[in-house]
Amino acid sequence: MRQEISLTVTDKAKAEFQRGMPLISKEALENADSLITEGAIVSLVDKQGKFLAKGYYGKQNKGYGWVLTRNKDEAIGQGFIERTLTAAIAERQNFFRNPNTTAFRVFNGEGDGFGGLAIDYYDGYYLLSWYSEGVYTFKDEVVEALQNVADFKGIYQKKRFDTKGQYIEEDDFVAGERGEFPLIVKENGVNFAVYLNDGAMTGIFLDQRDVRNAIKEKYAKGKTVLNTFSYTGAFSVAAALGGAEKTTSVDLAKRSSAKTIEQFSVNGIDYENQDILVMDVFNYFKYAKRKELKFDLVVLDPPSFARSKKYTFSTAKDYTSLMKEAIAITEKQGTIVASTNNASFGMKKFKGFIDKAFQEEGKKYRIVEEFTLPSDFRVRKEFKEGDYLKVLFVELV
Ligand code: SAH
Repeated sequence: MRQEISLTVTDKAKAEFQRGMPLISKEALENADSLITEGAIVSLVDKQGKFLAKGYYGKQNKGYGWVLTRNKDEAIGQGFIERTLTAAIAERQNFFRNPNTTAFRVFNGEGDGFGGLAIDYYDGYYLLSWYSEGVYTFKDEVVEALQNVADFKGIYQKKRFDTKGQYIEEDDFVAGERGEFPLIVKENGVNFAVYLNDGAMTGIFLDQRDVRNAIKEKYAKGKTVLNTFSYTGAFSVAAALGGAEKTTSVDLAKRSSAKTIEQFSVNGIDYENQDILVMDVFNYFKYAKRKELKFDLVVLDPPSFARSKKYTFSTAKDYTSLMKEAIAITEKQGTIVASTNNASFGMKKFKGFIDKAFQEEGKKYRIVEEFTLPSDFRVRKEFKEGDYLKVLFVELV
């Protein structure tokens, strides 16, 4: 049986929960230290003991758990999960019907009513991502529910919480039939090779779909493109298919080179006409400056935090200096695609980082386009941090 407990919330948090706040943060709780089992059902009550909301306990970097319902009598079980999943699938009917895009998010955590769980669709396969031990206790119910409400070939999973080193031995396959990898999915007609059974990442970040499409359709034609922190080169592929003169992809990870070759190849692009470099982006900036290389389009999509042999980088602290490096190697009237997925700051602050970089460089710019999460990554207006993606197309003037 699942543990069920009552937790008292602060007066400030009470007002937030009444407005629809889905996150149960540590600060919201009066008695956060009481011993709670992961996956326990928690009833949030005010200081007078009045019921506010019901959720589950699951520790992740964002907080202590998530609100699931504000109805005191609603049971959290198979039925609840089936209703939630059905609604999420219904929301994505336009995606399911689109033959040109076969990979997208079906269920986006708290945006779809169950924080800590994300479900992505990859051409007939569902990939479950569990963000805490607590949410993982719902695995049997979620898998059962998915089997009842969705058509699929197979189900895979990723545990995105600390499993204390047990990750590697485990198989990511859950149910149905096994896929053959790479699985080739489509995004706005572009092919991507994905792996659902090979470590934490699949080969493509689905939340950048609209940005890749904009690069392909509007920004790439005839341009020289530098893609930094390029991972599998997804932005480079979009640019090449959009008619870029040449793309240069730079990533530190050794495997990024083979992965990028693969993404070009599944799109019929000769990778030998593109540059794919395994190196530290910060060293590349130095090299490019020394060689006086300049690009028409520069993509900056760093991880929130990175440490290499020589440099430590955090988007919250160092985006301005990263942007300055990019400005230095961008052609006059060129464009920089500045992206971050750091949820700890919002668009306004991000624009501040960009502005500061141009001020310090004594240069002028214009923001020509702005992106946040695409529509399948559903977010709640009561929880702004959920809309973590910020992408600015910045033109030098
Ligand atoms: N832009 C990519 C996703 C980037 S993921 C896409 O759209 O698919 C972050 C990548 O940054 C990882 O592949 C990691 O290897 C790389 N990385 C981290 N620090 C780096 C550094 N200092 N230099 C180059 N690459 C780095």
